[in-house]
Amino acid sequence: MADKKKAGPKGKVESKPKKSRKLHTNYSISDNKIERKNRTCPKCGPGMFLGKHKNRLVCGKCAYVEMSAKKEEPKEE
Ligand SMILES: [Zn+2]
Repeated sequence: MADKKKAGPKGKVESKPKKSRKLHTNYSISDNKIERKNRTCPKCGPGMFLGKHKNRLVCGKCAYVEMSAKKEEPKEE
């Protein structure tokens, strides 16, 4: 009469993998010139990129918001 206990960690905490910022994807090098793909913050200067949101660009450092100039017509339900 041996009870087999399931071996398993108790209280397992699932940790989400950290998202890497992948800053290198913001640059592209062509002919020894660095081109910035994303918009940079006018307040913080070059090096601080604006985060892409649905319809705006936001600086994570100084909270500068720039509305994207995309012409999107609001969907009517
Ligand atoms: Zn900024």
